[in-house]
Amino acid sequence: MIDVIIIGAGIAGIDTACNLHDAGYDVLVLEKEKSMGGNVQHWSTLFPSKRNAHEVISYYTEQVRKRGITMYLNTFVNSIKKQDDGSFEIHTSREVSFKCKSVIIATGYSLFNAQRKEEYGYGIYSHVLTSADLEKHWQKQSAEFVSPTQKPLNKVAFIHCVGSRDEKSGNHYCSKVCCVTAVKQAITLKQQSPHTQVFCFYMDLRMYGPGFEEMYREAQEKWGIQFIRGRLSEVAEHIDGSLQLKAEDTLSARPFKISVDMLVLMVGMESQKSTAMFAESCNITCASNRFIQPLDHHLQPNATNVEGLFTAGACIGPLSVFDTLNHSKSATLAVTSYLK
Ligand SMILES: Cc1cc2nc3c(=O)[nH]c(=O)nc-3n(C[C@H](O)[C@H](O)[C@H](O)COP(=O)(O)OP(=O)(O)OC[C@H]3O[C@@H](n4cnc5c(N)ncnc54)[C@H](O)[C@@H]3O)c2cc1C
Ligand code: SF4
Repeated sequence: MIDVIIIGAGIAGIDTACNLHDAGYDVLVLEKEKSMGGNVQHWSTLFPSKRNAHEVISYYTEQVRKRGITMYLNTFVNSIKKQDDGSFEIHTSREVSFKCKSVIIATGYSLFNAQRKEEYGYGIYSHVLTSADLEKHWQKQSAEFVSPTQKPLNKVAFIHCVGSRDEKSGNHYCSKVCCVTAVKQAITLKQQSPHTQVFCFYMDLRMYGPGFEEMYREAQEKWGIQFIRGRLSEVAEHIDGSLQLKAEDTLSARPFKISVDMLVLMVGMESQKSTAMFAESCNITCASNRFIQPLDHHLQPNATNVEGLFTAGACIGPLSVFDTLNHSKSATLAVTSYLK
């Protein structure tokens, strides 16, 4: 019987697999996509150092290869069943099931679908895109971002908290990384196109991590990016493709309008659909934000209410790469002590 099955080959799953392999355990990784790396493989540069995300993925790909870790790609895990003897049976899209002594769920998150905020015009207006679209563009070609209609970008606005901290979307929680991503992307845009005026519309700025506050200062002092405490209510398209934003300045409680050439929506993180499926098949407790609830946030951050079933990474809630890798390292310790 396999010692540990890891569901998800994002950075959390891969890091845990490497560490458990090094500790002498037999591991199997199951990943639904055709490549490993999870969401990070789509990012261009990573805050706060602006290191190339590709470097991180290449590093982990090499670690998996060197160790000869078994990984099945294109394998969607449908359900986890705990057996009477305490072991687990994992059912997948391959129509084969696997048996193991313990399981690590490392299924991460999915991006909020910006089309659910109809009033922002994503998928309707060609100059409205998401933070993830912008990352993917820069990842494919590091060149200056050109608007879909080749229109010069004189003014660009970033909208924070899209699908997070938002009652209408059903997501009350903060996605933690989108404020600093907005600052990083706004600086990158200014570096590529210094003449562009850049505005960030925020509700609160969450600059919690090392180097974040410094980036925020740099954005204002070096690049002249304007941060406006305001809430966007509606977007309309002008005949030339530019966008009119109707918003409220939440400091002065006054409505205002501004025209921009491009709008970037800072989409948040949501719990994967798989999490709800696992919760049903294995009775895992989820928190009110629908992410998996750790058994004890302080003392057992990787354990779940099901003995032998652990978590690693952003399946417990929004996390940065740094926080994800810390969580995956503690998952290794938790599983090791369980198997002993
Ligand atoms: C726009 C944006 C930009 C970001 N930029 C940065 C940054 O610059 N720096 C930084 O520190 N953080 C950044 N982050 C956060 C970063 O993406 C996360 O920290 C990281 O992806 C978490 O890794 P993970 O392995 O936990 O989850 P994921 O990356 O979500 O990986 C989970 C994996 O599980 C797989 N999976 C899911 N369900 C199943 C299933 N049922 N069966 C099999 N496989 C499954 C998925 O396909 C995926 O490969 C950003 C986030 C966003 C939204
Ligand atoms: S990190 Fe910033 S943009 Fe993201 S949800 Fe939290 S406050 Fe909003």
